[in-house]
Amino acid sequence: MTYKSQAHEILNTIFGYNEFRGQQEEIIGHVANGLNAFVLMPTGGGKSLCYQIPALMRDGVAIVVSPLIALMQDQVATLSELGIEAVYLASNLEPEHVRNILIQVKEHNIKFVYVTPERVNSYRFLQLLENIPISLFAIDEAHCVSHWGHDFRPEYQKLGILATTYPHVPRIALTATADHYTRVDILHYLHLKEARAFHSSFMRNNLVYIVQEKNNAKSQLLEFLNGHIGQSGIIYCNSRNSVDKLAGFLQDNNFPALAYHAGLEPAIRENNHLKFLQNSSMIIVATVAFGLGIDKPDVRYVYHFDMPRSIDHFYQESGRAGRDDMPAFSVVSFGFKEIIELSRLIILSDSDNLKKKYELNRLKKIIAYCDSTNCRQYTLLESMSEKSAPCGRCDNCTNPPKMIDQTITVQKILATIYKVGQRFGITQIIDILRGRATINIQVWEHHRLSTFGLCSELNAKSLRRIIRQLYSRGIVDIDFTTGALKLTDKALPILRKLEDIYLPVAGKLQQRIKDVWLRSELDERLYRSLINWRHKVAVLHRVSQHAILTERSIYEIVKHKPKNTGELQKIYGIGASKLERFATDLINLVNV
Ligand code: ADP
Ligand code: ZN
Repeated sequence: MTYKSQAHEILNTIFGYNEFRGQQEEIIGHVANGLNAFVLMPTGGGKSLCYQIPALMRDGVAIVVSPLIALMQDQVATLSELGIEAVYLASNLEPEHVRNILIQVKEHNIKFVYVTPERVNSYRFLQLLENIPISLFAIDEAHCVSHWGHDFRPEYQKLGILATTYPHVPRIALTATADHYTRVDILHYLHLKEARAFHSSFMRNNLVYIVQEKNNAKSQLLEFLNGHIGQSGIIYCNSRNSVDKLAGFLQDNNFPALAYHAGLEPAIRENNHLKFLQNSSMIIVATVAFGLGIDKPDVRYVYHFDMPRSIDHFYQESGRAGRDDMPAFSVVSFGFKEIIELSRLIILSDSDNLKKKYELNRLKKIIAYCDSTNCRQYTLLESMSEKSAPCGRCDNCTNPPKMIDQTITVQKILATIYKVGQRFGITQIIDILRGRATINIQVWEHHRLSTFGLCSELNAKSLRRIIRQLYSRGIVDIDFTTGALKLTDKALPILRKLEDIYLPVAGKLQQRIKDVWLRSELDERLYRSLINWRHKVAVLHRVSQHAILTERSIYEIVKHKPKNTGELQKIYGIGASKLERFATDLINLVNV
């Protein structure tokens, strides 16, 4: 049997899947052949199969390095369900115990041993492995090797030892972190410079990206939720306190919202988690700790109530929407206050300067994403060095922002920052421009400046907004120890009237958050009535809404509007039983 057909057979018979996804087949062939690989694939792309199938094709046991016990337990449980022998070695096991397990590995033909990096690096463990045939080494979550990332694990850096101790055993490193510096670290520390790299696309064709400037954030959220009633979603906040408050606020407004954060009692937290997983219309309000490793397919939106901490965090978090490949939304709500807070956290942290610079760069990328007037998907993928055409779905594609010439106002702002010696914060600058005679203005005699009162026709909010846009475009900087606004090199040509500057007008929300999947009012009405019907039937039958009709089935019904049982039968997920029980109802809804 060829490698190819052998891999296919394992995919079909053991894993129960029909087709490989993306580059899986190529990667599996490569590793099964005994070659090294570096796999960069987004979360949910199917990385596990890339090492599990070659391990099953080769003789010996696969040693899989994984950073967390919870991840190992999960993998071992999944493999056991499939009838494959796998074990994991927790780090607190006595050497004697480890030895016994390894004897079992040898005698019982166990195919997978999951271990922590600490374990692999111990000389004793390598010694114990000595007379056991090894099929391959898989290094999962390989970004842990890089001190740039948030999951840095120093022990990962020593895994190069595998290359020197076992030069003939193939090694495969896998990660979903697409950052350039992280990639360089992985190839360096894991001795994989010669390995073939497999980069998957990070594009999510079913996600609609939307960004809003905060302007009464809670009512903006309600407005969005009112358009998504009966759907499951995650709302992220940056602190436990705001999670609690927001969950309460939504409950008061009759939304089925639950809170989730590390400060809740474990029993409550677990219960909320479970309810969210099992129900197709629950909303979970959570800190970003929520979501690691969750695999709920029908999350219809991820709403960042506060700005994400970095472009990488944003990609991971928004990626939890629409895992079933059906239309889903990513919404970010952001304001200047958070931008300043997040920037300040980095600048005033005790990291070294290089790391601060790196983190600031990741933050600036998410700020640029939020303030972008280009296609959001393009901007997001570009930050991961991937090129893409405009998506045609995001807010900026469907409703391009109007740009107006703001050169004169910007010149006034920049001149004021300059005239006060770049030593004053945003409030003072705004007060000067608006001509307000505050005590601070009088103390510093700022009413004598030539720009005093030059923007009196603008309110403070509009000026803040423009200054924020200047900050995110790198024209104005902030000294975080004092809060003072500074000019950058980019400010000069504008001040000298050599360059014009166009900024977007604040967008109208209502028209921006339109469900681009529902093309007409008729579609929208049908969609609503199907969702309501599904809800009623699910309550009646005491099952999850997903079990009645999946999102995909609903979208197909809206799209094709089946008028009789023959047409309904062709809809995805409508088998004989559903046809018999639901056909009358569904066809009635379509024919209304
Ligand atoms: P990752 O580690 O990249 O986040 P996983 O390996 O956990 O992703 O896979 C995500 C989900 O997709 C799992 O439920 C897995 O079983 C499933 N999956 C992987 N490959 C395929 C495939 N070829 N066909 C169908 N489902 C797949
Ligand atoms: Zn777009």
